[in-house]
Amino acid sequence: MKGIDRLVRRNIAELTPYSTARDEYEGALGVFLDANESPYPNGWNRYPDPHQKKLKQRISELKGIPVGNIFLGNGSDEAIDLLLRVFCNPGKDNVVAISPSYGMYEVAAQINDIEVRKVPLGEDFTLDREALLAATDAQTKLMFICSPNNPTGNAFSNSELLSLAGAFDGILVVDEAYIDFSKVGSLAPRVAEMDNVVVLQTMSKAAGMAGLRLGMAFSNTRIIELMSMVKYPYNLSQATQELALQNLEESYKWKIDETITERARMAEALRCTAGVLKVWDSEANFLLVKVKDADLVYERLIGGGVIVRNRNKVPGCLGCLRISIGTPKENDILLKLMKEL
Ligand SMILES: *Cc1c(COP(=O)(O)O)cnc(C)c1O
Repeated sequence: MKGIDRLVRRNIAELTPYSTARDEYEGALGVFLDANESPYPNGWNRYPDPHQKKLKQRISELKGIPVGNIFLGNGSDEAIDLLLRVFCNPGKDNVVAISPSYGMYEVAAQINDIEVRKVPLGEDFTLDREALLAATDAQTKLMFICSPNNPTGNAFSNSELLSLAGAFDGILVVDEAYIDFSKVGSLAPRVAEMDNVVVLQTMSKAAGMAGLRLGMAFSNTRIIELMSMVKYPYNLSQATQELALQNLEESYKWKIDETITERARMAEALRCTAGVLKVWDSEANFLLVKVKDADLVYERLIGGGVIVRNRNKVPGCLGCLRISIGTPKENDILLKLMKEL
């Protein structure tokens, strides 16, 4: 263990976190006159559990990861922002990210006044290990690698990622938002034993709860402790905690299976469509598709009532659209429009 405390901002290392009324007395029964809540029951009048114990316990069982290695947030976007605020001094430190990739790393860093060093992916969107490491310096605190990557759809191998973590003198953040759709296994079961890896996952994609806002970070207990110290005490509402627990009781595996089957069907069909130049293999629930005139196809699809993501202006994705896999019926509507163009 290299010990990560030297990477933490001094003001955070020295922080005394806010202590909630629910921290100071944790019993469930009694007359609660400690939090200035309304005493009149309506289902929501009490503050939610700031430690999300029940939900964490359930997620721990589902993922096979100890509760102490789990952070829950208002989407993975909260975890991204917290990592920046725990480790990066505004105006001084920097982070490294692959390009093209998920836009939130850059936006969250900019909001925190943290420089982002974007390192282009190699041929066919491969990871350029040497270029990534060359982009770092003593002020580089975090490296964001999205795998499977949005919008390119490819996944990086765990051995590549672990080798990168071993060579990097900062925290490697592996965003696994799409891992349920991939044949590459999650790195999450490995994080507890490593001092500098954080794995992000979300309930927004395969688990079908984008509207609830529930993201997860898995890491060693020290990093989880730091993130928990900095988060808003009540970052997950009672509604999110209860509804997520309810929803997690239902299996969504069939949806993942159907999406993977549809992904193969769509890739095949699009490859045989006039005007389609390239469809990359995908380990996610979307396809990156290069077409002859991306802006025109995008507008025509909207005209037909189908909205896709236009990535034509994104460096490395010129001429590309990112198309989510929908239900079989929805996919047929897209295909029909594409064939008519
Ligand atoms: C969709 C997505 C997320 C999910 O963010 P939430 O805030 O959890 O909804 C995270 N990372 C990537 C790369 C994504 O595409």
